[in-house]
Amino acid sequence: MTAYRDFHRQSIDQPEVFWGREAARIDWHRPYDKVLAYDKPPFRRWFVGGETNLCHNAVDRHVAGRGDQAALIYVSSETGEERVYSFAELQEEVARFAAILQAQGVGKGDRVLIYMPMIAEAVFAMLATVRLGAVHSVVFGGFASASLAARIEDAQPKVMVTADAGMRGGKVIAYKPLVDEALELAGAAAPGKVILVNRGLAEAPMMKPGRDLDYATLRARHLDDRAEVTWVESSHPSYILYTSGTTGKPKGVERDTGGYAVALAASMDYIYGGAAGETFFSTSDIGWVVGHSYIVYGPLIAGMATLVYEGLPTNPDPAIWWQLVEKYRVSVMFSAPTAIRVLKKQDPAYLHRHDLSSLKALFLAGEPLDEPTANWIAGELKVPVIDNYWQTETGWPMLSVCNGVAPQAVKVGSPGLPVYGYNLKLVDEASGEEVGVGEKGVIAIMPPLPPGCLSTVWGQDERFLNTYFGGFADRLLYSSFDWGVRDADGYITILGRTDDVINVAGHRLGTREIEEAVSGHGAIAEVAVVGVADALKGQVPQAFAVVRDPSMLADPVRRSALEKEVIARVAHELGAIANPARVFFVNQLPKTRSGKVLRRSIQAIAEGRDPGDLTTLDDPASLEQVRQAITRA
Ligand code: ATP
Ligand code: MG
Repeated sequence: MTAYRDFHRQSIDQPEVFWGREAARIDWHRPYDKVLAYDKPPFRRWFVGGETNLCHNAVDRHVAGRGDQAALIYVSSETGEERVYSFAELQEEVARFAAILQAQGVGKGDRVLIYMPMIAEAVFAMLATVRLGAVHSVVFGGFASASLAARIEDAQPKVMVTADAGMRGGKVIAYKPLVDEALELAGAAAPGKVILVNRGLAEAPMMKPGRDLDYATLRARHLDDRAEVTWVESSHPSYILYTSGTTGKPKGVERDTGGYAVALAASMDYIYGGAAGETFFSTSDIGWVVGHSYIVYGPLIAGMATLVYEGLPTNPDPAIWWQLVEKYRVSVMFSAPTAIRVLKKQDPAYLHRHDLSSLKALFLAGEPLDEPTANWIAGELKVPVIDNYWQTETGWPMLSVCNGVAPQAVKVGSPGLPVYGYNLKLVDEASGEEVGVGEKGVIAIMPPLPPGCLSTVWGQDERFLNTYFGGFADRLLYSSFDWGVRDADGYITILGRTDDVINVAGHRLGTREIEEAVSGHGAIAEVAVVGVADALKGQVPQAFAVVRDPSMLADPVRRSALEKEVIARVAHELGAIANPARVFFVNQLPKTRSGKVLRRSIQAIAEGRDPGDLTTLDDPASLEQVRQAITRA
């Protein structure tokens, strides 16, 4: 523990020494002049004057030493496709893809919008874009045309890369009609060229002459063309990526190049313990930050093979992930609590069918990791299960156990200590003053933000300042908009989002605490708690719960008994003040496409308001269920 604390301390007290040392993990075409420039707080630049390239560090650099080793393992349980690309093959595909983009006029600083399913070409497109010093904006495949159009307008891309279709649970989702609609909506911001990877899944997509280009045709035309790496200054933007939109309108995070590469390279070692030659399997999607950092860039920069998987965790059966772990000797796995909760509902026998001896650890991020879920999966896998807390904005974990620095204990329910590089504080929501042990505070970061964190909001420096740094009177602090509490060892537990805090008669309760108490009841699989306006108390908590065995709800007597049991449980654990006024039972909770519970929409419905911006809602039927559960009551 002391070893880790000293390590962390140095990263804060001597950031230039610390990050200067880490910078040696990547290739620099031109050495940097200065580790950190912090002349315009809170804006900061890392490795000023240094020239590098993300694609070079992820791909080219490995070809000489490990050209024949696996780099990209592509598996689709939807189409049955399975293919392994070595580093040499990946380099070829990427350099050719870059040549294709170049031929369409893409150069340094131009934006390329990538709207793709989980296929190898999506990864080629990302790497090809940064190879040219261009900037990608990956939009989660399957987002509706309005969401796509908004992102096109924001990025003003020169070229867009898409596919005929994605697939989910055996259903084909045609992308091209959505793309055509979005381009129409985007008007003048629409790109001049659209490259389409035709998987032959959707009906022959309509191709607009002069605008739409078939990738296979271009690939054949440019078969022998390879684009060289374009070296860029460290602060040159590598990509734009939008936050999940859980609390409102998504923010377009801008990421740099050098700082990001260094931060990821260090994290692969200190946090994930992944080594070159091993296989990393992140079950996320390239449309999210986990996909950017830990499907594409992190593992490849570390010389690891990355497993890119298209499909559900339960298809063809709930053993599919573990089958892949065995087959490709996965050493590090990254997923989300929501996916583990899905697996928890299945027969545990699926987990024991395969040899999982290659697996060293499982990392989970994106939402609070409740104790029952954490304990269950750790017990089944018999490897450390490590909660990671971070945000699209930060690009890599803010709270984690860092076993690569020094062995640390996992405390279930807490993602751990502040990660090196983060000068993390728990502060009073109004004054920004630090709170004590056991006191709730907003998780904040004292700038300068470490390498890898956002440079700004794309094209909106003012929004960057006002959104993230404007919250604490005259104190310059980055707000995460999450609540946390620290124990005597410094471990932090996340209590929920500041937007979701429930104020009952002056008592401020985190949604997480009440949710943990509810989900501790054996019959409950998943729950969301929201604060609903109440004339007397200001707000009262209401719970929306999914039961493990829906058949038990058929009997109204059993249903109302369960509601009473849940309420009694919360009273017992947290005191009557936290008691949900009602517990409603639903078959599924409304979630974002990245699997986060949309509490703001549940709350709005419970208060009879409009549910707000639903562009990131995964399944509209889930909101309908919430509505029905309330009206039925
Ligand atoms: P938006 O910012 O658009 O409202 P979002 O915050 O959901 O959307 P992301 O950047 O994808 O967008 O998610 C980051 C948030 O997810 C964190 O701020 C936190 O609320 C939650 N989160 C991530 N990891 C964890 C974790 N390990 N435990 C608890 N909460 C987590
Ligand atoms: Mg957020």
